[in-house]
Amino acid sequence: MPSTALPPLEPPVAPERIAALAADLAAADPALPLLQDPADLARLSRDYNDFSPVLAPLLAERRAQLVVLAGTAEQVMAVAAACARHAVPLTPRGAGTGNYGQCVPLRGGVVLDLSGLRRLRHVDPASGVFTAEPGVVLAELDRLLAPHGRALRLVPSTYRTASLGGFIAGGSSGVGSLRWGFLADPGNLLGLEVVTVEPEPRRLQLGPDGLAPLIHAYGCNGILTAVTMASCAAQPWQQLVVGFSDWAAALAVAAELPGTALSLNALCLLEAPVAAAMPWPGGCPPPPAGEHRLLLLASTDALAPLPGWLAARGGCLHWQAPQGESRGIPIRELGWNHTTLHWRAQHPDWTYLQLLLPADPTRLLAQLRRRWGDDLLWHIEAVRWGGAARLAAMPLLRWQGHEALAELIADCRELGALVFDPHAITVEDGGLGVVDADQVQAKRAFDPAGLLNPGKLRGWLER
Ligand SMILES: Cc1cc2nc3c(=O)[nH]c(=O)nc-3n(C[C@H](O)[C@H](O)[C@H](O)COP(=O)(O)OP(=O)(O)OC[C@H]3O[C@@H](n4cnc5c(N)ncnc54)[C@H](O)[C@@H]3O)c2cc1C
Repeated sequence: MPSTALPPLEPPVAPERIAALAADLAAADPALPLLQDPADLARLSRDYNDFSPVLAPLLAERRAQLVVLAGTAEQVMAVAAACARHAVPLTPRGAGTGNYGQCVPLRGGVVLDLSGLRRLRHVDPASGVFTAEPGVVLAELDRLLAPHGRALRLVPSTYRTASLGGFIAGGSSGVGSLRWGFLADPGNLLGLEVVTVEPEPRRLQLGPDGLAPLIHAYGCNGILTAVTMASCAAQPWQQLVVGFSDWAAALAVAAELPGTALSLNALCLLEAPVAAAMPWPGGCPPPPAGEHRLLLLASTDALAPLPGWLAARGGCLHWQAPQGESRGIPIRELGWNHTTLHWRAQHPDWTYLQLLLPADPTRLLAQLRRRWGDDLLWHIEAVRWGGAARLAAMPLLRWQGHEALAELIADCRELGALVFDPHAITVEDGGLGVVDADQVQAKRAFDPAGLLNPGKLRGWLER
């Protein structure tokens, strides 16, 4: 059985309504870029949902009928107003790097590209709290924060391409999650400026108490036009690549290291066949056959004790270089879903899953190894979950059809893992599977006609 079902394909919006909306927008602001070329509509309706053999065929034909490139919050409000007046669906888009078709317009209409809103508006010198526009690319935002001595707390491995707004609305965690947990953890996100979709849109300033329903809500319940977040002190992280001949030893180190006083910003463990398929940074030797690899981002004060600590536990340090100063691919782009990207470049018939492993994952890993053998290969990331160090996993899975996927998901749940299904269309089915009444309530308040990214919030469809 498919783990997800797409709402029935509705006919796209009548072309006359799109034409009337485009004419209204052009009359109100002749400088507003409106794209209707089929190649643009196809390009800006896509993301990386092809990692999923479940989603890719379902989403392949879904297209915007008009793309609007906004550069200011006022333009966003004009588009929101026009869509509300003409009853046309509106799907926000950042950089289009999501994995679950989050920014694919299921019911046609307008895709609103927010990549033109990219200013850093403010940095508070005392606290480091900053406010930035949603279209800014995360690496560029870090460059803007650097003169203030500050850096982003957590970033996806798509740091060089993904937008801030897309990360808040479509992402969850990444490099830095070992220290700072998940985006939704209280204290990371502090405020949002949100435009509602109504004939007279409102531009609201939400403080820390009203934010939760908009985090990882796929832009279904408000268009973000500014984001206020806590930052951390910028520091020169060091990239380390460590080899292990023994999987159990590598796993024990991955579990133990985040609990030490050795300061880390990322820890990724790759099982030998996965490590063998990665494009290693310039100067870093590729792994010999059978070697598992541990990738670390560590602070400079951890550099002296780490090699000995690792050697005592069976690890051999092969390579190290300061982040931002090595040749080729940075370590950050070998972990998180970049592992899946590189693996799939050589094995396009594979896909993946996303798990939070139980506090002691040994039984789960042993049982799944017994049941799934070499059809399931391990990629593990260290995270902070509910304040405690935990291991998450994004195992690679040889695609054997919907039934096998459903069986694997059931096995993982039975063995104590939380599954975040990357083969699901809706916010809820890709999360914990339950409807969040606050998300639905926020949609009712900010998008009363249900025009924002329709089809992606199950709680709204079922209300
Ligand atoms: C190789 C690879 C690695 C990845 N690694 C990670 C990772 O480590 N961690 C992680 O969390 N994700 C990861 N992702 C997924 C994705 O890259 C990130 O979540 C990224 O932050 C999404 O940003 P984006 O600008 O591309 O968003 P988009 O894909 O453009 O949009 C994502 C969602 O946000 C909505 N949205 C965008 N902008 C706004 C706005 N201003 N207002 C309201 N809604 C908006 C869209 O409608 C959509 O629903 C990875 C993806 C790939 C392909």
